[in-house]
Amino acid sequence: MQRLRSALDRIDRKGYGAYKDLSGSFEFDGFTLFIDRVQRDPFAPPSLIRVRTKENRFDPTLFENPVRRVAFEDFLTREVDRAVRDVVRGDRGSGGSGRVEIQRPSQKVLPRTSMVVEGDFVEARMAVGLPARGRSVDARAARAVLLEELPEVVDRALRPENADPDRARLHVASVEDAEYLRNLLPSLGLVAFVADGSVLPRESGASDRPLRENAVPFESPAEFRVEVELPNRGGVTGMGIPEGVTLVAGGGFHGKSTLLSALAWGVYDHVPGDGRELVVARPDAAKVRAEDGRSVAGVDISAMIGELPGGRSTESFSSPNASGSTSQAANIAEALEIGTSLLLVDEDTSATNFMIRDERMRDLVRREPISPFIDLVRPLHLSLGVSTVVVVGGVGDYLDVADRVILLEDYAASDATQRAREVVGRFPPRAPLEDREVQRPKPRRLRAGSLDLRRGKRETARGRGLHTVELGQEQVDLSSVEQLAEAGQTEAAARAIRRFAAGGDRGLGEMVGEALEIISEGGLDALGHFSGHPGEMSLPRAQEVAAAVNRVRSLRTGPGA
Ligand code: ADP
Ligand code: MG
Repeated sequence: MQRLRSALDRIDRKGYGAYKDLSGSFEFDGFTLFIDRVQRDPFAPPSLIRVRTKENRFDPTLFENPVRRVAFEDFLTREVDRAVRDVVRGDRGSGGSGRVEIQRPSQKVLPRTSMVVEGDFVEARMAVGLPARGRSVDARAARAVLLEELPEVVDRALRPENADPDRARLHVASVEDAEYLRNLLPSLGLVAFVADGSVLPRESGASDRPLRENAVPFESPAEFRVEVELPNRGGVTGMGIPEGVTLVAGGGFHGKSTLLSALAWGVYDHVPGDGRELVVARPDAAKVRAEDGRSVAGVDISAMIGELPGGRSTESFSSPNASGSTSQAANIAEALEIGTSLLLVDEDTSATNFMIRDERMRDLVRREPISPFIDLVRPLHLSLGVSTVVVVGGVGDYLDVADRVILLEDYAASDATQRAREVVGRFPPRAPLEDREVQRPKPRRLRAGSLDLRRGKRETARGRGLHTVELGQEQVDLSSVEQLAEAGQTEAAARAIRRFAAGGDRGLGEMVGEALEIISEGGLDALGHFSGHPGEMSLPRAQEVAAAVNRVRSLRTGPGA
């Protein structure tokens, strides 16, 4: 501390570059401060620091296995975030002067680089805007931030005496229950589970926090009710969605998309109090939608779309500007390629001609390459074991192909399977259902050289917020990748792509699998560029990493795994 104090005194009022002298580590009372990377000027991205406590006196049961550890690290990240808000004044001069930050978590609980809990220490990774007046060092302000505010944050958030043990235990127990429940799904023959009492709607379309007022808690129809025994919470009841084809029907604004979206986020764990803690889906579930304008590189969409105009084959379909239907077909083929056991499809975000083609249109238009999704859902389940939950408001033909129908009325779910059968009896099916086989899409080899990272003299592959990967000159648009939860996942995907670019040509699945293998062995830190603070990352799924690389416009592929 003393050393830091005198170092600051020495550089006071010097040019901002003098802050470089602070690189290194400093011993504080009870923790070590590492200053890993010093920003170039007050307007540049903030400096990266780590704070490592000299011991870990938290109850060891809070982090005794990998699931609990991730949950506890998530808990502590939020504690630091809260302490920073309470303690740090911020705004102490030009640019980002005086700002202190830790990676901002969403409502999901994910492995992140922000916190490391080990048997003998706890380490928080943060960013600090080193204070400046104009462009010179402001040592007085820096002292206030680094020698007063920071120790206070550590004291409040990372010392067991000041922590609320019950909240920490609840956090860990809740996440552990959700993981357990998700792992239970296959043995119950289910693809998803929604606990009774869950609060599905969100505060707004732009927020992932729960709706606080007038939310109607979820209640399972008796026919779909399943009881499970969780390790911490004990017995819990809720709606089990079995494998096969499930239709979610109902009038407009009755909560269909909200239910489907909750299922899509059910691949991740949620913080206690979220309302969706016990809404879980198969971890490989993929929400797929139309995304016209996206680029597609060599994807086998032949199961969905036959020969295109000009005799173009669809076994290796490429386009810099896919249509609504071809983009949706590509999204499905890519989900199958990287591996999924559950497709989630919402009519709202689907291409109509991809979903259905009625009798009259069939008669009028003979040269239609698309075999609509309605003809695909059953074969997908029968030949590939891939289940589908599809939200439909307008297209009753889907009643023909559904194993069950969940009806939503005023946000209340009921089992309408029997009624649907009667309806089908009264209005005969549109055409005899042919039971065709579908094949998995052909695998692709990625041409590593097509991933061009060059941007002027430098090479870049980084996340820019939640929805963009900046790759060389290109801004890869991920705004239609619906299960991307945090900017940290986007950053991690960008760094994975950097590795792909540096490697040789390989199968997409192999590449993505290997990147995730590296993370599972060395943690997300293994994707860091230098030792010390690795940057702000959260763990993405294989599906999101694949989705990111699949949207690179320069991407080229060839056949082969
Ligand atoms: P649909 O897809 O059937 O048209 P949405 O799922 O978009 O309907 O929901 C319509 C509106 O109702 C949204 O604003 C949503 O937040 C809200 N909503 C959904 N489920 C509930 C619920 N259980 N309780 C209260 N409001 C809800
Ligand atoms: Mg909707």
